[in-house]
Amino acid sequence: MTDELLKRCRDIVGASWVLADEAAMAPYLTDWRGRFTGRARAVLLPSNTAEVAQLVRACAEHRVPIVPRGGRTGLVLGSVPDASGAAVVLSLRRLNRVRAVDATNRTITVEAGAILQSIRDAAAAAGMLFPLSLAAEGSCTIGGNLSTNAGGTAVLRYGNTRELCLGLEVVTPKGEVWDGLRGLRKDNTGYALRELFIGAEGTLGIITGAVLKLHPQPKASTVALVALESAEDALALLSLMQERCASSLTGFELMSDFCLHLVATHFPHLPRPFDGRHPQYALLEVSSSESESHAVGMLENAIEAALETAIAGDAVVATSMAQSGGLWQLREHIPLAQASAGKNIKHDVSLPISRIAEFIATTDAKLADAFPGCQVVCFGHLGDGNLHYNVAPGEGVAHDAFLAHQSDINRIVHDSVVAFGGSISAEHGIGALKREDLKRYKDPVELEMMRAIKAALDPLGIMNPGKIL
Ligand code: FAD
Repeated sequence: MTDELLKRCRDIVGASWVLADEAAMAPYLTDWRGRFTGRARAVLLPSNTAEVAQLVRACAEHRVPIVPRGGRTGLVLGSVPDASGAAVVLSLRRLNRVRAVDATNRTITVEAGAILQSIRDAAAAAGMLFPLSLAAEGSCTIGGNLSTNAGGTAVLRYGNTRELCLGLEVVTPKGEVWDGLRGLRKDNTGYALRELFIGAEGTLGIITGAVLKLHPQPKASTVALVALESAEDALALLSLMQERCASSLTGFELMSDFCLHLVATHFPHLPRPFDGRHPQYALLEVSSSESESHAVGMLENAIEAALETAIAGDAVVATSMAQSGGLWQLREHIPLAQASAGKNIKHDVSLPISRIAEFIATTDAKLADAFPGCQVVCFGHLGDGNLHYNVAPGEGVAHDAFLAHQSDINRIVHDSVVAFGGSISAEHGIGALKREDLKRYKDPVELEMMRAIKAALDPLGIMNPGKIL
């Protein structure tokens, strides 16, 4: 970094908030999974929007690229600088205040570096719910959630982060502040610019603040685990649950037998709700704004209908909060059980819900043909059409030798996803990891429009270069 720019950054934020030595910068340069460590000229830690804007102006004048960084829990290398050492990392962690809660408008206004858990806590303290919830919520920031349009466990009922955001404050690549912090549910005054920045992974500007929607806290929720003969039956069960429970259905997760087998092997202390094994399982959650007995009643009635019509083979309904928690743990331990079993090749894909069973059968068969004995760990948010479709080596096959086939396996899975009308990234985004896949699979006209937007908003190409496009 030129001495002049470094000095200017120190003048803007104070010398202790510009990190330039290797040891101090180290925690900001490595990806969450430890797969890649980049290099940077400096790490900048502004404390408010005005400082972010001044820093961006200084970097623009010196043509220095900026990598925005939230909680660093992204899984596609979006907030990690490349190996050139040309960029600065701009961390939002000091912009972490809740600016306002408007109980009547049901909104909360927050700064971009606020940790998701702290926003959920602030909403709860005001007697309301901010429904975005994911396993990384103790570390990820709302700026990162917005920039990746994060999903999580409550999408079926409340939508992705995009659906939970009403307004944004953004520092543009020129260093101007766009004050779009409007708490409006209706605003038809031209282009929906907010939508551009959500899911942009820091390539169009830096989000510094947001107005988010709050919801009433449900009074109670309850969970059931249902054993199924096939993924087709899971789709039939989803339709039945949606008809019976409508918006009270707050979770619908699919897990294959192999997933629960892995959990039982690596976490034997967790519950084993059924004596025998079944090809598929669905974890259902129903919430009620009235009472626990209302939630349990709705769930039991729907499951009775599923058993009577033979959609479901067997079912366990939780009778206490502790049992509900135990059943959720089975789902939450799948990634951990998979990690304990060894390395695998991960895919985070989405499909039209109606085509999921066909996709699984076709893709499983193609993989078995190309890599006999390979094992598919398939689970996900079925209600959102989102599958984690991970591929592990067969018994006796060395993990590293199997990983050498990663690009062939990705090609089989992603070709199949696209053939069934799906998306190669449901939740985690594109970052630096999936750029080549995006080029291959995105409609060329759509890609060209994306490039035109990037060029119009960031003509110097300084905002998170090398990510998405
Ligand atoms: P970072 O990783 O720091 O950044 C992510 C991207 O956003 C980068 O491109 C970065 O440059 C950009 N960015 C960050 N802040 C800003 C800002 N203020 N302005 C502009 N750009 C910015 N994701 C899901 O969708 N659903 C899940 O269920 C889910 N579960 C997860 C579970 C675990 C254990 C982990 C580790 C990750 C999970 N993720 C999930 C992925 C990750 O948590 C989300 O993508 C999260 O939204 C990233 O937030 P972050 O603050 O860590 O962002």
